[in-house]
Amino acid sequence: MSERNTGGRNPMPVRDPISRRSDFEEVALGYDEETAIAEAKRCLGCKNRPCAKGCPVGVPIPEFLALVAEGKFGEAYEKIVSASSLPAVSGRVCPQETQCEGKCTLGIRGEAVAIGRLERFVADRAARPKPKPVGKKGRVAIVGSGPAGLACAGELTARGYEAVIFEALHVAGGVLVYGIPNFRLPKEVVRREIDALTSRGVKIVTNAVVGQSMTVGELLDKFDAVFLGTGAGLPRFMGIEGENASGVFSANEYLTRTNLMRAYEKDSETPVYRAEKVIVVGGGNVAMDAARCAVRLGAASVTVLYRRSEEELPARKEEVEHAKEEGVRFRFLTLPVRILEEEGKVTGIRCVGMTLGEEDESGRRRPVVKEGSEFTLPADAVIMALGTSPNPLVERTTEGLEVKPRGEIVADEWGRTSLPRVYAGGDAVTGSATVILAMGAGKRAAIAIDEDLSKES
Ligand code: FAD
Ligand code: SF4
Repeated sequence: MSERNTGGRNPMPVRDPISRRSDFEEVALGYDEETAIAEAKRCLGCKNRPCAKGCPVGVPIPEFLALVAEGKFGEAYEKIVSASSLPAVSGRVCPQETQCEGKCTLGIRGEAVAIGRLERFVADRAARPKPKPVGKKGRVAIVGSGPAGLACAGELTARGYEAVIFEALHVAGGVLVYGIPNFRLPKEVVRREIDALTSRGVKIVTNAVVGQSMTVGELLDKFDAVFLGTGAGLPRFMGIEGENASGVFSANEYLTRTNLMRAYEKDSETPVYRAEKVIVVGGGNVAMDAARCAVRLGAASVTVLYRRSEEELPARKEEVEHAKEEGVRFRFLTLPVRILEEEGKVTGIRCVGMTLGEEDESGRRRPVVKEGSEFTLPADAVIMALGTSPNPLVERTTEGLEVKPRGEIVADEWGRTSLPRVYAGGDAVTGSATVILAMGAGKRAAIAIDEDLSKES
């Protein structure tokens, strides 16, 4: 009898919705050894490796799955980290359904191999690497310690360079620590991954705002190249009436207060605004995170407003399901037009209903306002999760650095910018995107830096 189960994927245990609604502990619990081996054995070992082609950092997926199937977890970890700097992170937050798992042969007729869950399993149980001496091929300064900067630094140290990250905040990790909540990505998991990188030789300097305490030009005097992985931390608003009222937040501010400053703790020095009726505007992962934080902060009702239909929701499917299980409500085809306030405080939100019209250039149906469909929802807090733009600080202090009208740095596929020896990647170039795309960009820039510096020497 064959040992391979090509039927449905093995489920991953999650905490029950009632108990998890009131704390910030992790929701998904991960596979045990037996389930991981059973899941890895579902892999067909396809010769053309479609799953690996769907991975922006090129993780050798069939090879690491084969090692898991044989119970060789340590070797599987080495395979993964030969390509990816943050496997415990990407195993948890990558949109696998549209990347590696979206390309899996088993997914054509049934369910794809749970590649992300297996990556997480392998990374969580791996022994940490032994410290390595700092490379001597050259010195590279990296601005920003999000996934782009970390991946760039990891690849550069692997190639024999000294990589020094300059981070504006007091803690490294970018959105992984200040945006994505603990219940989805525990902060100790991020810390462990960063520790693994520092033991491989990456150096991190925190509380260092490039553009303020030093400029890119000054970094170029001391380093052979500079990589800009400064992300897209500037929130966007709708520009509607009432957005300045007390009780209206950007999701960035709300999540930073909650995650980084631990505002949910009783003795926190920066308590978060407590609200009963919370409205979240937007449909991405950021909106889901804000809504699920509001539930945990004790709101009696939390409603997400999204101008398209459920089918078009950009958030990961699993996050939408978890949000629903935790009591978050959704109003699709709904567009806010005004925030209502009394004595400067939010009291509600005026909305219109939408229908979906013709497809736009990206193939998505355009939302169109339905005539005579205005209605009001009561609210004492409104959280805007509408996307973000890059912060202009670095651009303003770096002469000759070309940017697009919305502030994204202009860079080619390999991260080369308009300035010699200056590279960029991640959200700072693409606008808000995903962890794995940022990691892919950081890694490609490291390859380009190595190539360019090797030609010069
Ligand atoms: P960032 O992670 O933003 O890191 C940039 C870093 O640069 C920051 O630490 C910042 O402090 C630092 N910096 C900025 N300016 C300076 C300066 N002048 N000097 C020094 N340092 C500076 N993606 C997914 O794939 N899956 C998800 O589930 C997911 N959920 C998300 C949830 C939230 C709430 C948010 C906000 C984003 C989410 N994303 C998700 C998107 C993903 O986190 C980002 O695409 C990714 O973090 C971008 O990485 P980055 O390194 O380019 O930038
Ligand atoms: Fe295994 Fe799916 Fe990749 Fe084929 S596509 S090698 S089945 S993970």
